[in-house]
Order: sequence, then C-alpha cells, then structure tokens
Amino acid sequence: MKKYFFFLLLLVNAVSDELTVTYFAETISIANLQSNLTFLASDSLRGRLTGSKEQKIAAAFIAKHFQEHGLEAIVSGDTTNSYFQPFYIKQYFGKQHSVMLNPTDKMRRAKSVIATENVMGFLEGTDKKEEVLVISAHYDHIGTKNGIVFNGADDDGSGTVAMMEMARVFSEAKKQGRGPRRSILFIAFAGEEFGLLGSEYYVAKPVVPLKNTVCDLNIDMIGRIDNAYLDKKEYIFLIGSDKISQELHALSEHNNELYTKLTLDYSYNSESHPQQLYYRSDHYNFAKNHIPIIFYFDGEHPDYHQPTDDVDKIDFGLLRKRAQLVFYTAWDIANREGTLK
Ligand SMILES: [Zn+2]
Repeated sequence: MKKYFFFLLLLVNAVSDELTVTYFAETISIANLQSNLTFLASDSLRGRLTGSKEQKIAAAFIAKHFQEHGLEAIVSGDTTNSYFQPFYIKQYFGKQHSVMLNPTDKMRRAKSVIATENVMGFLEGTDKKEEVLVISAHYDHIGTKNGIVFNGADDDGSGTVAMMEMARVFSEAKKQGRGPRRSILFIAFAGEEFGLLGSEYYVAKPVVPLKNTVCDLNIDMIGRIDNAYLDKKEYIFLIGSDKISQELHALSEHNNELYTKLTLDYSYNSESHPQQLYYRSDHYNFAKNHIPIIFYFDGEHPDYHQPTDDVDKIDFGLLRKRAQLVFYTAWDIANREGTLK
C-alpha cells in the first residue's frame, strides 16, 4: 500500500509538472510578439545595422524589457552591473569585419572601428544555479541600401522577440515560485550579420564560465514558411541538436512529441549540407567550445535579406508555436536532474 501510494505521488507530481510547464507555455503571447516585432522591424529602426544609432535604440529597448520583467543585469561595470556587453569591431576595406578582443583606448577611437553591444538578462536558478542555459538570438540586421530599409522582421526580429517573450515568461514563473533550477542567460547578440561577431566576443569574454554553460538554444528566423512547406506549415528546421549531446536531441524530440507536435525537419542538419547552416548563426561559437546547441530555423523564403522581410509577412501563430517548442525544451533542460550528456 505504501509503495503504491509512493508511485501515485510520483505520478501526481509528474502530471502537475506537465500542467505547470503547459500553463506557462500557454502565456507566450502573440500580442507581445507582435508589438515588440512591430517596433524592432519598423522603418524607424532602419534595419538595425551594427554600430548604428538605431541598433542602439533596439539594444535599449531589449534592456528595458529585461529590466521591466525583473531580469538581472550581469555585466560588471565600473559602479553597477549593466545589461550591455560593449565590444568593438574593426572594419576593413571591402567591408570585411573582425572582432577586437583587447583594443586599447587609442584603437577604439580609430575611424575604422565600430562600437556596439550585446544585450543580456539573467535569471538566477534555484538549487542548480551555477549551471547556466543560454537562450540567444541576434538583434542586428543589415541596415539600409540607397535609402531603402531592410527591416529584418524574420531575420532575426522573430528570434529576438521570441527570446524576449521567453525571458518574460520564465521570470513570471519564478515570481510564482516555479523558477528554473538552473540559471538562464538570455542574450541578444549584435554583429551577427558581420560574421557572428557578438557571439565570438561573448565566448571569448563570457559573463558566466563556459564550463558551467550547459546548452545554447539559438533562434535565428522562426516567423516565416519555407517554399517547401507552403501547404503544410506546422514545421521547424532543427540544426545541430545531435552533434554534441545525444541527450539534448532526445529531449528536444520528446518535448515536441509531448507538447508542440511540429514536424521537426533535419534537412539542413548535415555538416556537409551545401548551405552549411550549422556554421551560420551564433550557436556555432558555443558548439566550437563543445557546448551542446540547437539552432531553430524556418528555412528559405524569397524575402531573405531583402527589404521585403517585413512584419506583415510574419505568421505570428506559427512564431508562437515555435517559441513554445523552444520554451518547453528550455524548461526541461533547466529543471532536469542531470546535466546533458
Ligand atoms: Zn540571422
């Protein structure tokens, strides 16, 4: 009888955990995704080119969001901590760029140097708080050409607002006593379009030790529909989930089967795929450091890197569903007993 009762209790706990995560996942809001993206991808942000005044407006907007929702500033500054991690980029003739790891004051002032910043918000965990999950997206895009704005609603406004919304919801869960066991670091990277430079800088100067960083879930374009899926839109491309941790891959599949039921397409997963997607967004800098990653991606559409990558073409229902898949996966990674192997 006692044994039976114990199993019953386990079952009740499992069901209540499932109800809890579903409760919070359901609060991921289309209205929030839409209003944040409408701002970030508006013409007034002029394509969020790294180093531009408008990129800094976007950075301030994301930092304010973190602050309003109770995320911690974790970058140590002179007197107080900051949400911004400043860094410098050297621009060469022919528009090549490279990140500067230890520039002197004199080097920073050079005309060919671009000053920019990553933005991050930290949510401290409970009994496993030393271990950190990263949820990332890049908020920069490619600016303007001949006065025409490249709004970058999908690339990567969609990932940025999904990350912001997850930060809000995880923080809300914590306020209600259901905060994650592991800590979560939410990062909006700059310099991605110049060659993954924000994440390159981050892994060189991490704010929490890389050895304690258990995973990076990186979102880069999740608001549109690939040419091949126009009539069956409930899908997402996953890249890299099985490369460093088989447990991560299994956990990701399991959460999708249990909750979101999207078609998980691994067409781009091979490292020898001609498009080389595994190497093409910020997760790769974590993967290089042997940190398990998943890259969430919606595929190809004619507006990629065009001025027509606009908010009115985003499928917000689908964006929310994909954000929920990332959320369930993140919840599981942050709360499970063992570290990913
Ligand atoms: Zn992108």
